[in-house]
Amino acid sequence: MDLSSTPRGERIYIGFFGMRNAGKSSVVNAFTNQELAIVSDVKGTTTDPVYKAMELLPLGPVMIVDTPGIDDEGELGALRVTKCKEVMAKVDIAIHVVDGTIGLTDGDRMLKKMFEDRNLPYITVYNKLDLVQQRIGKGRTKEVAQDSIWVSASDKININDLKEMVGHLVVDPTNGRKIIADLISEGDIVVLVTPIDEAAPKGRLILPQQQTLRDVLDSSAIAVVTQVPELSRVLESLGKPPKLVVTDSQAFKEVNAIVPQEIPLTSFSMLFARYKGDLGEAILSAKALDTLDDGAKILISEGCTHHRQCNDIGTVKLPKMIEKTTQKDFHFEWTSGDSFPDNLSEFDLVIHCGGCMLNPREMMHRIRICQNAGVPITNYGVILAHMQGILPRVSAPLLGKNG
Ligand code: SF4
Repeated sequence: MDLSSTPRGERIYIGFFGMRNAGKSSVVNAFTNQELAIVSDVKGTTTDPVYKAMELLPLGPVMIVDTPGIDDEGELGALRVTKCKEVMAKVDIAIHVVDGTIGLTDGDRMLKKMFEDRNLPYITVYNKLDLVQQRIGKGRTKEVAQDSIWVSASDKININDLKEMVGHLVVDPTNGRKIIADLISEGDIVVLVTPIDEAAPKGRLILPQQQTLRDVLDSSAIAVVTQVPELSRVLESLGKPPKLVVTDSQAFKEVNAIVPQEIPLTSFSMLFARYKGDLGEAILSAKALDTLDDGAKILISEGCTHHRQCNDIGTVKLPKMIEKTTQKDFHFEWTSGDSFPDNLSEFDLVIHCGGCMLNPREMMHRIRICQNAGVPITNYGVILAHMQGILPRVSAPLLGKNG
């Protein structure tokens, strides 16, 4: 990960969709001004989307997602549709590329319905304007609806107009939510407790800590970053009580004992449950742990793949603590990165990380899948607080604030 760049979870996701021969790849390349599109040695066999983080003027930091062209041919066709649906769950805007020499096909109409079913803002791009103009003459191209545009990817016609249209569709993916900025004011002191143990990444803070720190600084508040052993001294040395103490959830127990009850306390995971997810749902769902029987299935899901940033909390510490607290044996399964099961009916509880690498749309999609399956979904910090009996204390500063 390039640490100087905008994290992927904070980018606007723009997905390109279309039938296989619509010229989608050339539109992607013209739009990004790069050779980015999906390529495969064997034509038509690639089903994996391609992701590319980039700065795209006038939009700013975006994640371009090129999806495999869909068709309705057999098993591979069905797989492509499945992949497209997965991408649709996380993109903020869809670009629907249509072969302008043919017009809308049944497959295109299926795609449109998929966008509309998901309330996904989209633009229909009729490609191959150059060929159409050769055939019927310039100036006679059929009018298209307001949310559509004619382009020629090969001759780079109307590509900037397309970017302008996308720019006008851009909405704030977090709906104005903040990590912490709405809880604090200029000049407030916020103490961030970031344990650096042997599992911590070398030479840096993990992303949720970095992002929270940045939000404090953006608010012109004062951030004091410390580890647990120094926390008492830090609190004593401050000229006034901090507005909020935010700790890594793994240190809840010690930090709860140190921070006087009158000082509000919460965790990075809880801030992220509120920022990108549904804190109320996470709090209610954490209580489901108390009702699970021996052998219940718990899914632990993380937004990172390789180079997991939250160390072994999900894979080792959390399962151990859950079994120790409940005195029950559970069956744990794990997912990471982009993978998240479509069918959750076999699980009794889902525990998700803070999801700082996921965009809000993807996080909410995961929550909705669980809700539709009737499976409670909570978050690392919330369940850790629940197990330690401090959930009321650490959720209090956040409730009523998008909680
Ligand atoms: S495991 Fe989750 S919270 Fe931790 S860095 Fe990865 S996406 Fe972010």
